[in-house]
Amino acid sequence: MQEDPDRARRDESMQRRVDEHGVPDGVVEEGWQELVTAPAAPPEGGHDLPQVAPAPEAANVTGTAQALTLERKALQLGPLEKVYVYWMAGMSCDGCSISVLGATQPPIEALLTGAVPGIPRLILHHPVLAVDAGEAFVKHFEDAWHGKLDAPYVIVLEGSVPDEKLSGDGWFSAMGTGGLNESGAGRPTVMNEWLARLAPGAAAAIAIGTCATWGGIPAAAGNPTGSMSLMDFLGKDYQSTFGLPVINVPGCAPQGDNFTETVAAVLLFLQGLGPLPEFDELGRPAWLFGETVHRRCNRGGYYEEGVFADHYGGQECLVEVGCWGPVVQCNITGRGAINHVGGCMNVGGICIGCTMPGFPDKFTPFYKAAPGSLVSSTASRVMGSGIRRLRELSRNDRNREPLWDKQAAVPSGWARHQHQPTAAGKAMHFFYDKLQYAGGERPGRTGADEQYRADGQYRADGHAGAGNGTGPTGT
Ligand code: SF4
Ligand code: SF4
Repeated sequence: MQEDPDRARRDESMQRRVDEHGVPDGVVEEGWQELVTAPAAPPEGGHDLPQVAPAPEAANVTGTAQALTLERKALQLGPLEKVYVYWMAGMSCDGCSISVLGATQPPIEALLTGAVPGIPRLILHHPVLAVDAGEAFVKHFEDAWHGKLDAPYVIVLEGSVPDEKLSGDGWFSAMGTGGLNESGAGRPTVMNEWLARLAPGAAAAIAIGTCATWGGIPAAAGNPTGSMSLMDFLGKDYQSTFGLPVINVPGCAPQGDNFTETVAAVLLFLQGLGPLPEFDELGRPAWLFGETVHRRCNRGGYYEEGVFADHYGGQECLVEVGCWGPVVQCNITGRGAINHVGGCMNVGGICIGCTMPGFPDKFTPFYKAAPGSLVSSTASRVMGSGIRRLRELSRNDRNREPLWDKQAAVPSGWARHQHQPTAAGKAMHFFYDKLQYAGGERPGRTGADEQYRADGQYRADGHAGAGNGTGPTGT
């Protein structure tokens, strides 16, 4: 097994997260240190499959150091037949689950049935969608924790992680009760505890939605629950057993395809069928969040020509009613909300920056235009007013057949009132055309070698009257 040079530092960091953010006292006291000692990077020649040693006889999270020691078996790159997915919900509205159900590229049902070529089947344990309930449902999570799985597992967190040290005698977010905790039967098992158990042995940890990725709404100013992101909870040293830091798919709610596509890309990597997908410095899929939403907005042309809506739902650019699109990394204008339909500016709503780490506080008040937009929209308005007029002239000319120019008429009842080009317009287009065809060829047979002789023969030699008597193809 490869020696991890950062091991001590990582152990210390993870323990600090637990101490600071409320995995209850006594929980994972000994076991934690063992759980987090899995090496960060896979060894040469293949990935490692995390295997937790047999569970302690008493199903207690404290267990023994031996019981919780991670043993790692070499797992050669692909093929995996299946991967378990443990979906957990912290401070969440379940909107992320709903958006993933609407995904189409690929759809979640294709991932669950193994219908996507090359991608292992997902066995999903989801608190809302599961058929199992109660103890039967929680047992799946215990199996992962106790290393009883026959395939790697991935954890997915929806919702932010509360600071359970602030919850007093109660709790903010929990799943399952009884016998699982240091505190004994009857006490709910808080989400922090499940994360502490499962994150270290996961092949990948994926945060879905802005609450899990950056804290989101629960972590907004005031933040009575001390909510934080998965990254903030696990700390900067966290790496999955395959050496991946937390993967973040933000959005409130996120675009469902962004999640399923990221999962598919990571699974192809785990199968050995694809490269590790590119993630940016915040763990976002770079190919999905590398551009501002403004760059692919269907109102971008209005912005460029300086035409702005003064109310939500207007068809023009919405920057003056509060759209933050020019600075926000998001792809919803290209992808739509579900199956290329809907999505913020596509339907007349402004961008409030929901995919960004600064959301929501740094984008409020939502009903005001961003101060910076005043500069850019004023510049667009000034430039755009001139550009719009020039484009209108060109558009009017390009709306006419060349024949109509010769006849000075448009043969349609619809065009009864259409004005003919003015002398100034004609003069302008005379010079415009000169520029357009400078260095290029006008349409038609204008080149010397393309012209016909008076007798209809092709001038293949390029000299008038000296053709070879053959047709245009030279035959
Ligand atoms: S509506 Fe927003 S994202 Fe779209 S062009 Fe205007 S400023 Fe850009
Ligand atoms: S356009 Fe803005 S508000 Fe809409 S999903 Fe993207 S980041 Fe969120």
